[in-house]
Amino acid sequence: MADAEIVAVGTELLTPQKIDTNSLYLTDQLNALGVEVVRKTIVGDERALLTETIRAALARSTIVIVTGGLGPTEDDVTRDAVAAALDRELIFNQDVCDWLVERFKKFGRKMAENNKRQAYVLDGAEILQNDWGTAPGQWIVHNGAVVMLLPGPPRELKAMFPVRCLPKLQELLPPQVIRTLFYRVAGMGESDLDHLIAPVYTQYQNPVTTILAAASDIQIHFRARCPSAEEADVLLQELASKIDPLLGERLYSKSGEPLEQVVGNLLRQRKAHLSVAESATGGMIGERITSIPGSSDYFAGGFLTYTEEMKTKLLGVPEALLREHTAVSEQVAVAMAEGARRNTGSEYAVSVTGYAGPAGDQVGLMFIGLATPRGSEAVRYQFATDRQRIRTLATNTALDLLRRRMLAE
Ligand code: AMP
Ligand code: MG
Repeated sequence: MADAEIVAVGTELLTPQKIDTNSLYLTDQLNALGVEVVRKTIVGDERALLTETIRAALARSTIVIVTGGLGPTEDDVTRDAVAAALDRELIFNQDVCDWLVERFKKFGRKMAENNKRQAYVLDGAEILQNDWGTAPGQWIVHNGAVVMLLPGPPRELKAMFPVRCLPKLQELLPPQVIRTLFYRVAGMGESDLDHLIAPVYTQYQNPVTTILAAASDIQIHFRARCPSAEEADVLLQELASKIDPLLGERLYSKSGEPLEQVVGNLLRQRKAHLSVAESATGGMIGERITSIPGSSDYFAGGFLTYTEEMKTKLLGVPEALLREHTAVSEQVAVAMAEGARRNTGSEYAVSVTGYAGPAGDQVGLMFIGLATPRGSEAVRYQFATDRQRIRTLATNTALDLLRRRMLAE
């Protein structure tokens, strides 16, 4: 199976001001052809370094794409570096030169002498005409591998690649597709998850499994590469049939939707509404829910009650309850959720009250309350780490608790 490497050339790409976006675009295009990108390298405009990089890439991979550094100036060293790496001559090409002269004429300008540098073509290379700029691309087959030289400006690259490179790659490559399952898992940490599923996924080289962790929200990517989509799907289903039972209800999406969307879908199915009563999360749950288009179908609204006074005024939490149990308690979490449910007429309400820190000796203690047609409850959590992470964890956990309770009905 063909693997690819991308080499992005440009000293500016090594500064904090500029990101290499070309490789993201190219990776997307290559993946669509069933080609995995196994390495990306960013190299400054340095001939020797670039030569070395290209040589090494060619020793490993069957497709090497070099972008950038094809301009007319001294610091555009890609042509020279590739020539050195492949031990091929650069040959002046009169047709390219004529084309460049014409192009300048068309825009009412005279071609500068240094633009002639762009008319040098590697011995044996095929020219990839660039109708969107002055730097032509080049396609070289070398010892069974393909090296592509493509212009750096993203606009030119994106215009050129689909018409100049894609058809040639399709012709060259055996039929192969990449199919992916995007799992999302809530309510467990990364190491627990890996401990649980690694015995299964490590038995498979294909699909490839990657785990990406965020605050109590883990993504698992399974990527299968096969000659056909059907074969890839069979492999993915086989692995899924072993992984799914291990994850159980912690698996909330198999196609990458965020938790707030899954919760929204469950509410919509039930033709029910949700309201929120937030203290420590300061509106984060409402923000997440309303980030989904169409959430007005099921989101009633919320209460941002930070002080005890507001909890009483807006949610009807009894002062005596606050005095007896404090604002961060199971009883108050329940009263907040019930107050939100009562005041909005929604079927479901969630609440959060807790200590986000960093000051205090109970940092990370959170109560998440739930009021539903089947009754009320609150669950106690102790989250570790910093303020923002605690708030994110509480938000995810609240959404997940609501999801699980709806599923259990
Ligand atoms: P060059 O082809 O190296 O002369 O680059 C021309 C322009 O394209 C410059 O503004 C670069 O910053 C930009 N550019 C080059 N390579 C990349 C890349 N990998 N990602 C995004 N922009 C790039
Ligand atoms: Mg450059």
